[in-house]
Amino acid sequence: MNSPTRKTEFTTGDHPLSVTHEVMNQPRPLENYNLYEQDTALREAVLREGAGHACEDLSRFGTWAGKAETIELGQQANANKPTFRTHDRYGHRIDEVTFHPSYHELMRVALENGLHSTPWTAPGQGAHVARAAKYYMHSQVEAAHCCPVTMTFAAIPSLRNQPDLAKVWSPKVLTNAYDSRNVPDSEKTAVTIGMAMTEKQGGSDVRANTTRAHALGPEGPGQAYELVGHKWFVSAPMCDAFLVLAQTQRGLSCFLMPRWRPDGSKNPWQVQQLKNKMGNVANASSEVEVRGALAWMVGEEGRGVRTIIDMVAMTRFDCMIGSAAGMRQAVAQATHHCHHRSAFGARLSEQPLMQNVLADLIIENEAALAYTMRVARAMDNQNNEHERLLARLATPVGKYWICKRTPNHAYEAMECIGGSGVMEDCIMPRLLRESPVNAIWEGSGNVQCLDTLRALQKEPETLDAFFKETGEAKGADRRFDQHLAQLQHDFADISDFQYRARNLVDRMALALQGSLLLRYGDKDVADAFCASRLQNNGGMNYGNLPSGTNPTAIIKRGTPVVG
Ligand SMILES: Cc1cc2nc3c(=O)[nH]c(=O)nc-3n(C[C@H](O)[C@H](O)[C@H](O)COP(=O)(O)OP(=O)(O)OC[C@H]3O[C@@H](n4cnc5c(N)ncnc54)[C@H](O)[C@@H]3O)c2cc1C
Repeated sequence: MNSPTRKTEFTTGDHPLSVTHEVMNQPRPLENYNLYEQDTALREAVLREGAGHACEDLSRFGTWAGKAETIELGQQANANKPTFRTHDRYGHRIDEVTFHPSYHELMRVALENGLHSTPWTAPGQGAHVARAAKYYMHSQVEAAHCCPVTMTFAAIPSLRNQPDLAKVWSPKVLTNAYDSRNVPDSEKTAVTIGMAMTEKQGGSDVRANTTRAHALGPEGPGQAYELVGHKWFVSAPMCDAFLVLAQTQRGLSCFLMPRWRPDGSKNPWQVQQLKNKMGNVANASSEVEVRGALAWMVGEEGRGVRTIIDMVAMTRFDCMIGSAAGMRQAVAQATHHCHHRSAFGARLSEQPLMQNVLADLIIENEAALAYTMRVARAMDNQNNEHERLLARLATPVGKYWICKRTPNHAYEAMECIGGSGVMEDCIMPRLLRESPVNAIWEGSGNVQCLDTLRALQKEPETLDAFFKETGEAKGADRRFDQHLAQLQHDFADISDFQYRARNLVDRMALALQGSLLLRYGDKDVADAFCASRLQNNGGMNYGNLPSGTNPTAIIKRGTPVVG
């Protein structure tokens, strides 16, 4: 039996009779370990998907991400919520959100490490893969501040629809630096970008937006407008500019709205209040009124959704990375705890029923990671038609599935730790509170399923690409072959797709995950995945691996070793 112990200190004098107990059978904190080197599945995925050149950098980053001081940054950024002031003491409107220094430090590290930039500044083999791997580790430290990092990253494809604006803004967006000052962007060399689509009367259906745009002179792409209206959710309101949707005569259009006007005065974009969120609390989200704010049109007039969807597609991809990362952190905490905790005469990680739960949680995480990194490779190869079609379909399917699988995963991992897992001085409550967010923003679950349908209708070849990709594993496992054949059969008729969409999209995600694990994954993980997810054995909760699977090997693979 293991039992790393820490003796209690005398608290009431030195008399031996005053010693109440010895602290034992408690694990040491999971800290000072390398998040990259101690994550076998991640290292394998990086090599497999073409980012082998980044291993050294990722290992260096992994050391930083596992340090006790780094972990404390995440804790502090959440313990000290951002605060908001409309005016300064003299009555000037300032719209200033103040964050704890730990938030700024996390932002600095993220941006100096190019989490918002590298696939755009140094595209090519493995660029998205390497960035996804780094984001995966960074997000495990603290997920909420990754929101502005993602939005800044994702803004580039939309901005490129307006080359004159992109020429001015891209250099400052893409520089690997962080400038948190509340000053005009003209005084900065590094800026961050947010997005504002959602309004009170409609978030998923942005066609209902009522914010209006009035041309200041000539109309059309790149021209200056003033916007009047409101936005109901605007995260990271201290960003230097936002991609915003507003109505013109020709319909919903996309605009770039800076927080300051070029003359250095404040753009009348006024934050009303911060949202009172159950999770994602280190990140500020706000409600905003727009009172004649200057903005430039991005892309074609009346095609705002088409323009901003390039940004949204990237943020959806980051939701997949973020949720897979949440799963990994939950797995790391649960396996570490159960390795160092004993009950009824054995380590928890050796009790058969706990083995089943832990191995099942690891499988879910490995499947999510394999899927995400495969999509990252597709993004690195968008000039290849198969990869383009695959990314188009696999992004909404994966965003739906991976994000939706995360909340219950976080809860099960918390339960592995028992009562201590519920306490606010560990990361588990934060992982649980963070877990629904990715599923809801950037297009909620049903919206992802409907987007899958849209892709199938607009480009039926996406389905061919999907089945070509998944079919690569045919013959490797009988249960997989049956799953795939049934899925293909059920796609022969998609007349009532909307009603059946969740069922079909669930099974698509499982098919791609199964295919990837069978082709490239660990054989015990792949076998247990097929046994538990591709054939119906009646169980709905985690811990439903059937007999014959190998939890010991899976748990060994998933458990981080602290030096
Ligand atoms: C923490 C947080 C931060 C956010 N930050 C931002 C931000 O920075 N910028 C921004 O623009 N927005 C932001 N949002 C808003 C977010 O994108 C929206 O909440 C989301 O898109 C859903 O829109 P809604 O809230 O209006 O819900 P609704 O659109 O009313 O949807 C409610 C439910 O109905 C479902 N639904 C919608 N249409 C259909 C349909 N046709 N068939 C079946 N089901 C359907 C949806 O899937 C959802 O489950 C943020 C949200 C959160 C929670």
